[in-house]
Amino acid sequence: MENEVIEVAFGDVDGVQRNTSRLKKKKVRRRTTNRKLSNWSFGKVYAYLKYKMEAEGMKIDKHDESFTTQQCPCCPRRRKESSRIYTCTCGYSNHRDIHGASNFFAKTFYGEIRVLDFSLKPTKYLRIA
Ligand SMILES: [Zn+2]
Repeated sequence: MENEVIEVAFGDVDGVQRNTSRLKKKKVRRRTTNRKLSNWSFGKVYAYLKYKMEAEGMKIDKHDESFTTQQCPCCPRRRKESSRIYTCTCGYSNHRDIHGASNFFAKTFYGEIRVLDFSLKPTKYLRIA
């Protein structure tokens, strides 16, 4: 295996939806998630990935991803970040996607949201004028 991947954690979207009230779910899904969910099914993507990965001897499981995008890994604060960089009043900041992925990794494999040291190359953004 090229990147030595042995296990993949897949965010459990069903769990997130179950945790919201009927009224809230309707509103939230229409505004943000519905667009992303409309063209493809998470269930299908998961089933396909599971099939492909298990054929290569890799493991994949669904895990609870609640609060991983909102929770600061340094302090107990939570906030919804709308810009590209997640920042907390305690001084922590990170790229929103790295922040969420890091928290999801920590929650899944360490059982709690905590700071992980990822050394990544700076992200380059391509802009089409
Ligand atoms: Zn903080």
